[in-house]
Amino acid sequence: MPSYKAPLRDIQFVINEVLDTENLYAGLKGYEEATPDLMNAIIEEGAKFAENVLSPLNQSGDEEGCVWSEEGVKTPEGFADAYKQYVDNGWPSLSAEPEFGGQDMPNMLGIVINELAGTANWSWLMYPGLSHGCIKTLEAHGSPEQKEQYLPKLVAGNWTGTMCLTESHCGSDLGLLRTKAEPQADGSYAITGTKIFISAGEHDMSDNIVHIVIARMPDAPEGTKGISLFVVPKFNVNEDGSLGDRNGVHCASIEKKMGIKASATCVMNFDGAKGYLIGEPNRGLNMMFTFMNTARIGTAMQGLAHAELAYQGSLEYARERLAMRSLTGPKNPDGPADPIIVHPDVRRMLLTQKSIAEGSRAMLYYLAQLGDIVDRGDEEAAKKADDLMAVLTPIAKAFVTEAGLEAANHGIQIYGGHGFIREWGMEQIARDARIATLYEGTTGIQALDLIGRKVLGSGGKLLMGFTEMMGEFVDANADESYAEFTGPLSTYKDEWLTMSLEVGGKAMENPDEAGAASVDYLMYSGYVVLGYFWAQMAVAAQKKIAEGEGDTAFYEAKLMTARFYFERILPRTASHKLALLSGADNLMEMPEAMFAF
Ligand SMILES: Cc1cc2nc3c(=O)[nH]c(=O)nc-3n(C[C@H](O)[C@H](O)[C@H](O)COP(=O)(O)OP(=O)(O)OC[C@H]3O[C@@H](n4cnc5c(N)ncnc54)[C@H](O)[C@@H]3O)c2cc1C
Repeated sequence: MPSYKAPLRDIQFVINEVLDTENLYAGLKGYEEATPDLMNAIIEEGAKFAENVLSPLNQSGDEEGCVWSEEGVKTPEGFADAYKQYVDNGWPSLSAEPEFGGQDMPNMLGIVINELAGTANWSWLMYPGLSHGCIKTLEAHGSPEQKEQYLPKLVAGNWTGTMCLTESHCGSDLGLLRTKAEPQADGSYAITGTKIFISAGEHDMSDNIVHIVIARMPDAPEGTKGISLFVVPKFNVNEDGSLGDRNGVHCASIEKKMGIKASATCVMNFDGAKGYLIGEPNRGLNMMFTFMNTARIGTAMQGLAHAELAYQGSLEYARERLAMRSLTGPKNPDGPADPIIVHPDVRRMLLTQKSIAEGSRAMLYYLAQLGDIVDRGDEEAAKKADDLMAVLTPIAKAFVTEAGLEAANHGIQIYGGHGFIREWGMEQIARDARIATLYEGTTGIQALDLIGRKVLGSGGKLLMGFTEMMGEFVDANADESYAEFTGPLSTYKDEWLTMSLEVGGKAMENPDEAGAASVDYLMYSGYVVLGYFWAQMAVAAQKKIAEGEGDTAFYEAKLMTARFYFERILPRTASHKLALLSGADNLMEMPEAMFAF
């Protein structure tokens, strides 16, 4: 397993030289103190924690996994101690609201710290990571008493949270859920049912675990309109905030699974557990939409994390591993062979990983900034940011995790046979990366959300918000020296809109057309969005080179990676376009019975 080295130079490039971070936060209420210097100092501390504490536990955590017993779940050696350090150093509260003990730093900074921790050890990050959704739900919809009771401990990290949605027969379609909530005389609810796949449902890191659970009340309407939301603590909480008796929720078992083995994926039995209604009855799904965007950016981060880690390991290996000679003559004439980094095909894979990791970093930090504008911007700016987030979030979640998986697979290939062997760590990265395209909404579900709800559902308005921004960027950088990037962007901007209209027209006649186009449409969109961020990085790098500010090699490398992306990766859009416009017939005409032949 490669030991992780935080890419601080690249992180600072994106934050300070590509995105207008300093001006943005100087103008957002409450974030005035989040200056570049302060943010850099915090990021450097986060990098040390990730490199020195979390990274060394990544491979051992995978080997050891979690152990279930009647008493609970034991996480791998060192995990609980790392969590204690994380809490003692105040990391959980970094970007939480001050009212309940948060340090009130921008969400973007939280996302950067998650990148560092998650790249070093994704399984470990799942424990504090799941608290995020729980905190956001209570902040947005909890009663004043619920906030008072749960948020200070959750924000400080003394307690962790979960999201209990999935049941054995339903994941994507939560309308099928069966867990029951029976009203009790004291105003609480008795929650009964079994949830599966619950990340961090049980563990040995915190004093209490606070479950956010969806369940159905008696006589609730069928489907998604009958879902209510409850908070169910592992230990009941006394009025003075101290821990009371054990609640009727227990972990029945943990899953044996392909990757993220150090993250406990729990079957949770609720046997008349005491739960408390959050918000209004039957509004559960609507309430969860409020934090879904941030949760999805968090999961998108996993794609970036695995692309980055696979790239770091692959690069080191490609520089050292000797095999055959360069096609243009020896590059290591004193050695028995050349390092494999001389071979064009190895470079193709390395540059693919690099362009995915760095492009995704810019995309996700930008999205996190939009989240901060939604929270703290003036009304007009917040509305615009919200619209952009609506269309970009499913793209980021599905595209970045699919691309991260590709990058992780290249890691195995670059290591050759050694990539398949556990001790080198590349197969772990690929196994860990696999889940990201599944949970928090599969790629297929994100694609339906993009094409159905976001693009066609808004009559193209949300998409146009983004393409207009692409157009403004192209116009603002009309200089001939940027044309190799702005030219193609301009073409894609128009093609994306025309193609969306065509799919929309077909979908009016036959709804299956939207479903048939969806994943190719999403991947096409992902490549174009990443192209937009690569173009921004290329222009920023070119400007720095022209100014002669130094660090030229860094900027030249950025420019060359941008060229690679535009010439070798972005053209993948052409095949997605052909596939998505080929229509639904080639998928739907085969009768189900014929699939058997
Ligand atoms: C390791 C792990 C951790 C998890 N953590 C949590 C957690 O903390 N909390 C929690 O609640 N859940 C969690 N989950 C559950 C996860 O979110 C679900 O597995 C996921 O949402 C998919 O649901 P499903 O497994 O029921 O698949 P299904 O919904 O059965 O989907 C099966 C396939 O059908 C496709 N499909 C379904 N409907 C459509 C459609 N209308 N159009 C096109 N394609 C469709 C899907 O894309 C997928 O390919 C976790 C799962 C795992 C494996």
